[in-house]
Amino acid sequence: MINTELMRQGALELGIELGGRETEIFVRLAESLAEANRRFNLTAITREDRIVTEHFLDSLTVLSAADPRGKRALDVGTGGGYPGLPVALVCPGARCTLMDATAKKIRYIDTVSRDLGLANVTGVAARAEEAGRLPEYREAYDIVYARAVSDMLILCELCLPFVKPGGLFVAMKSAGADEEVKRAERQIAKLGGRIKDILYLDIPGTSIRRSLIVTEKLRRTPPEFPRDYARIKRQAKTMIPAPKP
Ligand code: SAH
Repeated sequence: MINTELMRQGALELGIELGGRETEIFVRLAESLAEANRRFNLTAITREDRIVTEHFLDSLTVLSAADPRGKRALDVGTGGGYPGLPVALVCPGARCTLMDATAKKIRYIDTVSRDLGLANVTGVAARAEEAGRLPEYREAYDIVYARAVSDMLILCELCLPFVKPGGLFVAMKSAGADEEVKRAERQIAKLGGRIKDILYLDIPGTSIRRSLIVTEKLRRTPPEFPRDYARIKRQAKTMIPAPKP
């Protein structure tokens, strides 16, 4: 079983008081994650304390950047449900859509959210650059979150089309993403956004630094975006320096 004290204390450090029921659901979520991991490699993080810190608490850091209560939130490239599941768990008043290109991962999200009674979670199996062109999803969300999906230059085109004008896009990055963010500024502007804030914080219970890149949507995204993934990638490649050998 996970260390519930680490979970509660860590959440408190983020300003979130977990009730007994919520703590219990986190315990069950960790069990389901461990079980799913045995069946198919859902995530590289398996040790119990690291599930608490690097999945649960890390996910809850996004609440410091954008509060989804009473709003529609979207997690793009949710994978096994991070940050979307912890956000939905502590914010029952938020309507959370969790999107991933891999149908198998969305089947897991649907099952786990039903089993844990997370009625505010909807899974969508789709590629972001395709869903972002559909009226059902385009500019339909107050807040879009993304963790560990791609470079900011690509990520902003996958995510910003979903954000309503006046809404926010929060990208979870490691500390030291400043160059990456700078490089994406022009593309963000083309998509109708502007970097509003960068928050730096430590994941409670660890010395891991996070930066949360908060982009606000000022205008509607022009209809030519998002482009096909191949085109997004090709353009990004010309701007992202190759990793040093
Ligand atoms: N956010 C999760 C998963 C990160 S792995 C976490 O932090 O634990 C990246 C995930 O993004 C994968 O599950 C992959 O299927 C998904 N993904 C990558 N490109 C995508 C795209 N264009 N549209 C939708 N999902 C995408």
